[in-house]
Amino acid sequence: MTISFSRPSRIDALTTAVRGSVITPGDTRYETAAAAWNLAWTHRPAAVVVPADEDDVVVTLAYARQLGLSVAVQTTGHGVVVPADEQSILMVMSAFDGVRIDPAARTATMGGGVTWRPVLAAAQEHGLAPLLGSAPHVGAVGYTVGGGTGWLARHYGLAVDSVRSLRVVLADGRVVVATAESSPELFWGLCGAGGGTLGVIVEMTVALAPVDEVYAGNLFYPVDAALDVFDRFRTRTADAPTELTSAFNITAFPPLDIVPEPLRGQTFAIFRGCHSGDLAEGKAMVDEWRRWRSPLLDTFGVLPFARCAEISQDPVDPLPAATSGRWLHEAGTNVGEAMIDAVVGDQPPSPVLFAELRHAGGAISTPNPHVSFDARTGAYVLELVGLIMSPEADVELEQRFGHTWERLAENLATLPGYLNFTEGQERHALARHAFAAGTRDRLARLKQDVDPSGIFRHGIGL
Ligand SMILES: Cc1cc2nc3c(=O)[nH]c(=O)nc-3n(C[C@H](O)[C@H](O)[C@H](O)COP(=O)(O)OP(=O)(O)OC[C@H]3O[C@@H](n4cnc5c(N)ncnc54)[C@H](O)[C@@H]3O)c2cc1C
Repeated sequence: MTISFSRPSRIDALTTAVRGSVITPGDTRYETAAAAWNLAWTHRPAAVVVPADEDDVVVTLAYARQLGLSVAVQTTGHGVVVPADEQSILMVMSAFDGVRIDPAARTATMGGGVTWRPVLAAAQEHGLAPLLGSAPHVGAVGYTVGGGTGWLARHYGLAVDSVRSLRVVLADGRVVVATAESSPELFWGLCGAGGGTLGVIVEMTVALAPVDEVYAGNLFYPVDAALDVFDRFRTRTADAPTELTSAFNITAFPPLDIVPEPLRGQTFAIFRGCHSGDLAEGKAMVDEWRRWRSPLLDTFGVLPFARCAEISQDPVDPLPAATSGRWLHEAGTNVGEAMIDAVVGDQPPSPVLFAELRHAGGAISTPNPHVSFDARTGAYVLELVGLIMSPEADVELEQRFGHTWERLAENLATLPGYLNFTEGQERHALARHAFAAGTRDRLARLKQDVDPSGIFRHGIGL
């Protein structure tokens, strides 16, 4: 396809050339079209393009090349890295919303703009499950190519290891179907370098796990008992079966209407998890916790995996938030103390909403030479999440995050960077600590090969 765009009529020409929408500043739809789920980020692109199909993606890239614009790709805006500016186009993938399940092959094929929600619903009709994270409203592609650790991770692995093929439009307009066998280098790079860096993924096929019901939920304990709950969690994880993926969490639920009443405005130490093996074994493990100490609130029980969002109950509506996360090689009592201090200690109220230490290991650590995702040997992953309700909260959050990581320097894994649990400049920069030196060099060569002029400059730094 050869298209020529000249500067004077450039937007008109693009509007005529694509079947989807082209929305520019001044258009009443612009603010909504350019919005990210995370309200802390603002895109200000020269145009928002909502491609209707793969040809539209090819045409938009040709346009960007000719006019020297960069292209930022967005499914939901949960994980903005470098926001789109006036020298860029924001490509919103919402029209790529198809989902097909192949029950015999146990795979799901989905468009590059779907969230996990419809994939989970369709897969569950066949007793199958994708390796989604805690929130089904997160984009499937962005989550997966950044690693993807969810409630089935210790049992079935990271989402990035479940990828079977990626259909991608490269900066020069070529459409490539990358698998571990065909275009293995591109497949390797895409599976780990995160989205928005090497190309536009228009379709992804992943393997599904045979999961229909799980034993899952939360035990809420008083915040005063946080260190005891933490100590029990870390000692119990030492010999936990891989069927159990669990976490210690301390949350200061804000006094907002979106928080259900028994939790609103309260702070709890929480043991949460999902047992995806024998349900009776899962219950027996949680019964031991119940016998150890009666929780204030107990939501554990048999859960159809279709309802797995109930485990974490992440907020669904857009919010101004910040996230920072690292892999830890071990979790001594100092980790529990740092988590408590981040959320409730030192001069409260803290803008840190929660700190969650997820047990890793199991299938997460299985090496996979077909993907570039490297940071998988940590025994735990710690995530800090805060709400940015004011500019002061933003500064304070950054300080608390930084202070926590300094305090935990001894606990950090060899490769501490977990790109999915960071955003913005931090995700961009943390790439240095998410890959081994050899992987980084190989990714940099691949980037030079497939995107020499840096059209995709809104992902991580390679
Ligand atoms: C409430 C919540 C819960 C979460 N839970 C987990 C969890 O349990 N485990 C976990 O690992 N992570 C989790 N995350 C992090 C999440 O996986 C990352 O933020 C991820 O990057 C979000 O992807 P997205 O497509 O929704 O966001 P976006 O901001 O739209 O995209 C993220 C990145 O992927 C790129 N991208 C998106 N679509 C495409 C595409 N089709 N082609 C090429 N590039 C693309 C974007 O350019 C961007 O660089 C959570 C995030 C939130 C907000």
